[in-house]
Amino acid sequence: MRLVLLGPPASGKGTQAVGLAEAHGIPKISTGDMLRAHKAQGTELGRRAAEYMSAGKLVPDELVIAMVDERLGQPDAATGFLLDGFPRTVPQAEALAALLERRGTPLTAALQIDVPRELLVERATLRRTDKRTGRIYHLKYSPPPPDAELEHRADDQEATVVRRLDEYDALTAALLPYYQAKGLLRRVEGVGSPAEIAERIRSAIAG
Ligand code: AMP
Repeated sequence: MRLVLLGPPASGKGTQAVGLAEAHGIPKISTGDMLRAHKAQGTELGRRAAEYMSAGKLVPDELVIAMVDERLGQPDAATGFLLDGFPRTVPQAEALAALLERRGTPLTAALQIDVPRELLVERATLRRTDKRTGRIYHLKYSPPPPDAELEHRADDQEATVVRRLDEYDALTAALLPYYQAKGLLRRVEGVGSPAEIAERIRSAIAG
């Protein structure tokens, strides 16, 4: 199973990616998580990515593509993977297709989670992550347990979320016709409980 999970910021990709990767026994590869880890560790890549991330802009394609190429070469990705947050531009999608072709392992499907834009700002600004477990909560719809150690992502402040959504519309939305033309696109409605959406994803992949 080699999957790409697509959808706007705060569409539920990260939440769904955890269950989906577990269900299929494949690693979840989140470029956002990888970049945040680089930033926290103060690597050269993290330093270069930080200025884009805090401005709500996409990190340049060549940096992200090299990072993903290296990650897909690791042994745990040999039997499959779930990419979360990559590709985000058509050049990234083309680079991914080229590197998978080189390895003789084409994508199984690209799964898009659709959520209306007006819901996304509230989802992002009320989103919190438990530092210890990495689990994602929503203060209103999916409240964290009392002992959670909550973090609010720096780029989930309202003004930055709006810029990230604009970046999505300008660059990432073009991936839908790209994967549609290749016959790989599956779309699911992303409004509902996480369990309902997980069920829609299961049937979209099976069908
Ligand atoms: P995410 O956690 O997926 O929302 O990503 C957080 C931020 O990391 C994004 O707003 C971008 O600045 C950066 N980022 C993550 N994935 C990519 C990617 N595929 N291409 C460019 N920038 C990315």
